Amino acid sequence: MKQLIDKLEQEHCLTKENYVRLMQNTSPELTEYLFQKARDIRHRIYGHDVYIRGLIEFTNYCKNDCLYCGIRRSNRNAERYRLTKDDILSCCETGYSVGFRTFVLQGGEDPYFSDERVVDLIKSIKKRFPDCAVTLSIGEKSRESYRAFFDAGADRYLLRHETANPRHYAKLHPKELTLENRIRCLHDLKSIGFQVGCGFMVGSPYQTLDNIAEDLLFIEKFKPHMVGIGPFISQHDTPFHDKPNGTLEQTLFLLGIIRLILPDVLLPATTALGTIHPKGRELGILAGANVVMPNLSPVGVRKKYQLYDNKIAVGEEAVEGYNNLKIRMKSIGYETVISRGDHKTMRNA
Ligand code: SAH
Repeated sequence: MKQLIDKLEQEHCLTKENYVRLMQNTSPELTEYLFQKARDIRHRIYGHDVYIRGLIEFTNYCKNDCLYCGIRRSNRNAERYRLTKDDILSCCETGYSVGFRTFVLQGGEDPYFSDERVVDLIKSIKKRFPDCAVTLSIGEKSRESYRAFFDAGADRYLLRHETANPRHYAKLHPKELTLENRIRCLHDLKSIGFQVGCGFMVGSPYQTLDNIAEDLLFIEKFKPHMVGIGPFISQHDTPFHDKPNGTLEQTLFLLGIIRLILPDVLLPATTALGTIHPKGRELGILAGANVVMPNLSPVGVRKKYQLYDNKIAVGEEAVEGYNNLKIRMKSIGYETVISRGDHKTMRNA
């Protein structure tokens, strides 16, 4: 198996069969071998820097009904909220003062936030914080909408592909959502000029090792600037309330693999990873990740943005959360940096 890891390190690709073989044959020794290589690569490219992104969960209204997600439209128990522009700018203000230089606006697909409103938000943030990057994570839109967001100054866009297998996609989503459109969005975003992130949940219901291998092949081919992966965690008010969670081990292993596929990828140790294990994010960094995304949302709305159960940092002030993460990163020999943290190929873009 070590030869397969060596091959991946050198060629940045494997066959589907070989990805499956690797995942079937993990051992503590092989895993450490992989993580060592993943760290070496990330140190060569990004040193011991950890980029931070301030996550602002600005609306939990959603017109979609994804079966895994706690803010799906048919969850009558979700207490809905929207932040105002002033709320959002004041989140950025707080973040800026402690060193955040990227703000991620994430939300459900909320029709209230028309293109016009989103454009206005982007322009307002960029005007007040011209040295900061704005990342959007607001789902599937038309090419024209994406273009308008880009022209308004948005820099990056996160849109996980969720699974690269159409049959698996159909088991996770209502029929009006298709993998085809998701992929269309990703290609549009890339061709418009965004730094683009795709990704998937590890251990999502009905996922097979074959499916994960297909996700890895998709990542090889699409070459995103960012990849977001985290364990699936069940949410009590969804149809998947009784499905088992993804595991720490498999998520870490895949972080390492993704670092070898795309050496300069921006790879977050996600909140979901921090939720399934108290040291999840530190372990993610040690497996090859180089980004963390502390929550900048006002404490009053945190528990309402419940994509999954037991999400961490629900009662924690933004500055406190940031300081905690800084200490956690230092404890493993890494340093959170005050920087936009662009992809290597997109600096000064
Ligand atoms: N509406 C936006 C943002 C979605 S939330 C969009 O469509 O892109 C961001 C990510 O959270 C999703 O892409 C999904 O992969 C993840 N997520 C949702 N529910 C989850 C759950 N139960 N467990 C783990 N991750 C989940």
